Amino acid sequence: MRTADLLLLGASQVVTVDGGRAGPKRGPRAMNQIGVIEDGAVAIHHGKIAAVGTTNEITAAFRGSRRIYCRGRTVLPGFVDAHTHPVFAKMRVDEFAMRCRGADYEAILAAGGGIHASAAATREAPVDDLARGVRARLDAFLRHGTTLVEGKSGYGLTFESEIKSLVALRRGAARHPVEVVRTFLGAHVVPAEFKADRAAYVQLLIDEMIPEVARRGLAEFCDVFVERGAFTVPEGEAILRAGKRHGLKAKVHADQFRDGGGALLAARVHATSVEHVDATRRKGIQALERARVVPVLLPSASLFTGLKHMPNGRRLIDAGLPVALATDYNPGTSPTENLGLVATLGCSLLGMTPEEVIVAITRNAAAAVGREAEHGRIAEGRRANLVILDAPSYTWLPYRMGTNLVHTVLVRGRAVVKNGRLVKAHP
Ligand SMILES: [Zn+2]
Repeated sequence: MRTADLLLLGASQVVTVDGGRAGPKRGPRAMNQIGVIEDGAVAIHHGKIAAVGTTNEITAAFRGSRRIYCRGRTVLPGFVDAHTHPVFAKMRVDEFAMRCRGADYEAILAAGGGIHASAAATREAPVDDLARGVRARLDAFLRHGTTLVEGKSGYGLTFESEIKSLVALRRGAARHPVEVVRTFLGAHVVPAEFKADRAAYVQLLIDEMIPEVARRGLAEFCDVFVERGAFTVPEGEAILRAGKRHGLKAKVHADQFRDGGGALLAARVHATSVEHVDATRRKGIQALERARVVPVLLPSASLFTGLKHMPNGRRLIDAGLPVALATDYNPGTSPTENLGLVATLGCSLLGMTPEEVIVAITRNAAAAVGREAEHGRIAEGRRANLVILDAPSYTWLPYRMGTNLVHTVLVRGRAVVKNGRLVKAHP
């Protein structure tokens, strides 16, 4: 008999998202094989998964002092949110209400709303206030089953406040069960004070901000918003190449409103992931496939802003791409931390199957943030980050639109959510 600290037994399903070739799951065949074990069990030892199998197999092989019985419940890998903007001082509920009453975006900007409002408030905020906000948001992610989050700066847009945002992100995540991968997004938009001299802001990013971010180890990725009204392809390329010279891997917000060559840029600089790709045409899709870039689709942002633009998940998967889904959590266009809801939208709006959306919020999302070795599947030797859903099969996750089905969350084998509640306020 082998020893385990904890045994999860009798789950109506354990979904491993394991198997197949190394790396993320690409294309419809692989993305529909998710490794379902009926009457499943997981053995956990020293914070890692010791074995996964049927309840009979695991109880025959393991002695375990603690047991969790999962009857009628489904065990999944901890969810991975591959794209969020969690560092900001204020929600933008007033702007949302204005929009619902008919104001257009120009009017909202004129009234001091939009991203520039977030920038103004973030610049004012003390770093500890920002860190507290991050921490509260991580608690909310955790209650929804997310145990790994990518978080971006990008509401500071000055040297001091971009650095402050990344420090707040690091501080807010310190000793929190949710692991955070930090991304520098100083190239979110050109700040208002540089409108007349955008080249000077690009130079500030390249000459001062990126070297400082890298020197202090504040981020692992560098991201650029390539879009009309944000950054051009040549500006984006210069910024991403500067990031690479300083050891920052690349991500690109691309083709959200029109195909402006952002996906081609992501392929050219061998970005780890490309975000949105709502409007990317065939050439861009083929380039992403060849360069092995993970597309991160953000349907809750499309929904929240009225479905004017939407990624074609079906087409991207059929082209052989390893599609991931994320919340795009941010105060302007996607104020939700609920990946279960995003899974619903993947099925209802993007033409994806229930199996594909499960892969897209676990294994493929982990690949989009460079964490596939530890996160995103249930397999021997991997970190024991697990979600237990209060539902008899994984198909309930996309089906129960907007309802949080998360019953228990384990991080390194320790229960951090029980009965849908945080086990304790984290220090
Ligand atoms: Zn974003």
